[in-house]
Amino acid sequence: MNGSTDSFIEKREAMVQEQLQARGITDSSVLEAMKRVPRHLFLPQHLRREAYSDRALPLGPGQTISQPYIVALMLASARLQRTDQVLEIGTGSGYQTALLGEIVATVYSVELDPALLARSAKTLAELGYKNVQLRAGNGWLGWSEAAPYDAIIVTAAAHEIPRDLVKQLAPGGRMVLPVGDDEQQLVLLERTAEGLASKNLGPVRFVPLR
Ligand code: SAH
Repeated sequence: MNGSTDSFIEKREAMVQEQLQARGITDSSVLEAMKRVPRHLFLPQHLRREAYSDRALPLGPGQTISQPYIVALMLASARLQRTDQVLEIGTGSGYQTALLGEIVATVYSVELDPALLARSAKTLAELGYKNVQLRAGNGWLGWSEAAPYDAIIVTAAAHEIPRDLVKQLAPGGRMVLPVGDDEQQLVLLERTAEGLASKNLGPVRFVPLR
């Protein structure tokens, strides 16, 4: 790589301190992963200089790479463990998939758009992620063959909680997803011994889960 590699490392350190730690993200596995994963490589060339700025960026029609803080909030809220098996809905650029690959044991990720999936598969393979499995398909249905999951992360907003995903959540499992149409809330669902517990994490803006 060229001489700009170092400046990207500095930008990542600044992103972690100023955008994540300053806003209360404390999960060290999330902070470490976000220092390591080269977010700029998941973006088209012309957007790479913007990669570490404090905002979402466009990937294509109906697709965005989320703001770093929102990605971190979702990962931290899922309370991920090293041994977890995780399902992601909406691979998109593959950036959050890579972060999951750094933090947990196995990642399954489903993306509706096959062209986008081909691109993220290439990036993830080039970066050497071997614990990530990708599939083109409809995320509303999850990935039942590999269920149950310790955590499920949905990166597009559903107008209602997808029933099939709830079924694929292990006992003690956590699901983080944006729910709503124009007004969306980030929701944490947990399968407890008593049933399904739900916690509101605040307003968000995601593209729709189609
Ligand atoms: N986590 C991604 C965010 C991508 S935006 C990243 O870090 O880049 C949301 C993604 O969800 C888009 O790529 C979109 O194509 C995908 N998507 C929308 N509806 C879907 C569905 N029903 N099943 C699977 N993926 C879907």
